[in-house]
Amino acid sequence: SIGLDNLVFDNRFIQELPADPETENYRRQVTGACYSRVFPTPAIQPALVSYSQEMAEQLGLNAGDCESDHFAQVFAGNRLLTGMEPYASCYGGHQFGHWAGQLGDGRAINLGEVVNQNNQRWTLQLKGAGPTPYSRTADGLAVLRSSVREFICSEAMHHLGVPTTRALSLTLTGEQVVRDMFYDGNPQSEPGAVVCRAAPSFTRFGNFQIFAARGETDLLRQFTDFTIRTDFPHLMNRSGQLGKDIYLRWFEEICRTTAEMIVHWQRVGFVHGVMNTDNMSILGLTIDYGPYGWLDHYDPDWTPNTTDATHRRYRYGQQPQIALWNLVQLANAIYPLIEEAAPLEQALGIYQDTFDQGWRVMMAQKLGFDTFDPKTDEALCQALSTLLTEVETDMSIFYRKLALLEVDSDIDRLSDEQLLKPLMDAYYQPDAINDAVQAKVADWLRKYLYRLQQEGAVQADKKQRMNAANPKYVFRNYLAQLAIDKAEQGDFALVNELLGVLRKPYQEQPDKEQYAVKRPDWARQRPGCSMLSCSS
Ligand code: AMP
Ligand code: MG
Ligand code: MG
Repeated sequence: SIGLDNLVFDNRFIQELPADPETENYRRQVTGACYSRVFPTPAIQPALVSYSQEMAEQLGLNAGDCESDHFAQVFAGNRLLTGMEPYASCYGGHQFGHWAGQLGDGRAINLGEVVNQNNQRWTLQLKGAGPTPYSRTADGLAVLRSSVREFICSEAMHHLGVPTTRALSLTLTGEQVVRDMFYDGNPQSEPGAVVCRAAPSFTRFGNFQIFAARGETDLLRQFTDFTIRTDFPHLMNRSGQLGKDIYLRWFEEICRTTAEMIVHWQRVGFVHGVMNTDNMSILGLTIDYGPYGWLDHYDPDWTPNTTDATHRRYRYGQQPQIALWNLVQLANAIYPLIEEAAPLEQALGIYQDTFDQGWRVMMAQKLGFDTFDPKTDEALCQALSTLLTEVETDMSIFYRKLALLEVDSDIDRLSDEQLLKPLMDAYYQPDAINDAVQAKVADWLRKYLYRLQQEGAVQADKKQRMNAANPKYVFRNYLAQLAIDKAEQGDFALVNELLGVLRKPYQEQPDKEQYAVKRPDWARQRPGCSMLSCSS
């Protein structure tokens, strides 16, 4: 370990970009600047709930460092390490399709950029460490409930291979925070908490949009140049000069990485819930774990966000289109730097192509095919999507069980019932599987097996391929709620247990089967297990 006090900081964001000249911390519009200097609000009694061993290792820290009181003091916002220069960044965004003006880091405070021993950079950011100029009418704080959700999910996504911001630590502040709870609509107080997030950069589409919306073109150019130089150095040419061509290559890369991220979300059944443009990372990372959720039963229309229950703008099945809509907003924002629509439209076409191609490869992996054959597989996937919605089917369990289907099965001799047998665990209401449904599923399974046999698939290889794409363990909404219930009583064992299980989401963990089962009936309607509000 290099020790907490020896972390090396190199804070390019604040050194190279214009600061808000005003340093008093009150809510305001910040123009002509990319960020405001601000200090975390000290916590009364910091206490560590959990930390990510893998993230700590990235920074060169070990268990001794992370379990020290010093660590809890620093990552609850009570102490600054040498080299930390805290700030909140200014951004805007479209919320639910409407331009919302200035938003900014309202409850996030960046501490600085750590350069680790491999010369990799990690910006550390506290979420819930008090108000900033961007807090608008809110308090800048976070509750344990939402912080447990963000902390575990960030790390779970990382282990699933989904591009994401990371989480280093989860600490209690020792304070109570009042939240308008959804249980009965009355304000209740909950334990306050701080998550320390980490990412190469937290820059969002909204960081560019705010300058464009204000007509601050010079600042837009300066921030874009900074972003390319720091987060996309591979796009720079030898002269170090930036211009239209590089801006376009940059936008194309954002289109590609965003498409790849969405393919991953669709693969694992993750629903972000608030795909506003301020929640879209320039690096194609999943960012801002608020009222997100995981599909238990497969339902393209599902969204976890109560605020979106009517229009369902951010439902699972619409995430690919929304990402494109968001990229269009980013294209509009950077248009003043390019002043030509055609190449931007072409780049948006790259999003669509990357997504379509990525989706095919992903579906082929989920189904165990060598490659996606459009002639047969388009129809197979269509039919599967219909089957999965016809009777409530657990998405994760379905794909894991499907991998057990023997390639060499005698398609013509097996009865419908025999074919379906390995899959029965995936159904929420086995009674709903009447003969008609059974016949339909069996018909699909026969076509599927035939397709595998045509390809000459080998059972062991096919199963392995499928299990590498279909996680056994995902952070089901009800599991999060169970961990939260315990944590609110001061018992963090389940937080740590789940963090551990979710480290190896694709591996069988025979003594952890209880975390890979269908959502229990009691969780169907319970808030937190089904729907969540934005204050989550
Ligand atoms: P979100 O919907 O979480 O992406 O948040 C949208 C905006 O509201 C961002 O600018 C957040 O920083 C801000 N925000 C959300 N919750 C709070 C809070 N409790 N205090 C201050 N600002 C907040
Ligand atoms: Mg946000
Ligand atoms: Mg949020």
